[in-house]
Amino acid sequence: MDKNNIETVGDNHIATSVDTPLRKNAFLKSDDEKISAIQHHFKKIMEELGLDITDDSLSGTPYRVAKMYVKELFYGLDPKNKPKLSVFENKYAYNKMLVEQNITIDSSCEHHFLPITGFAHIAYVPKDKVIGLSKINRLVDYYAHRPQVQERLSLQILKDLQNTLETQDVIVMVTAKHLCVSSRGIKDKNSFTTTIEYGGCFTNEQTRNDFLKIIEKTTV
Ligand SMILES: [Zn+2]
Repeated sequence: MDKNNIETVGDNHIATSVDTPLRKNAFLKSDDEKISAIQHHFKKIMEELGLDITDDSLSGTPYRVAKMYVKELFYGLDPKNKPKLSVFENKYAYNKMLVEQNITIDSSCEHHFLPITGFAHIAYVPKDKVIGLSKINRLVDYYAHRPQVQERLSLQILKDLQNTLETQDVIVMVTAKHLCVSSRGIKDKNSFTTTIEYGGCFTNEQTRNDFLKIIEKTTV
């Protein structure tokens, strides 16, 4: 891709697929092997920027960044870190909307590797299965912790919940600020982005409006 195209893809935040693009050999190396390789490469980046890596304050940065990438910011790339989503029989036959709102989004933009922060609001109408509430938060956290595009993040959460809960009746709304929009490029500090993905009964406008009414007081 030429440099103009690279900038265009970044500034328009274009995603190419619902699945995160991963190499076939993505998980052949252990976490420790990845940390030591990234440490080596990040040190080179710092040196290219002209930093004196022997300075006491800087010398540990390559390791800190490498560990942060593998173990924290991007732990959600590795399927072995996916939370166990145990579901239960819907014994009370609860069949109305259940809303889990203000779920923290801590993610990173895959085009600039800068933070995306905000909230997810999720609702579903149970059929035979229900899920522990904190599991929804854990699932959001997992998909957020990989290089992301907001539209894809919303879709990945939606599809996983639809599969797990064995119903299409799920809605996922994400409202977030992108540091790559506020701190570089257009440098707009106030704008934020909302994405909304849904299926089943939420294709009905009234049902969708019921959900929106519940969450309308939320701000980022
Ligand atoms: Zn970006």
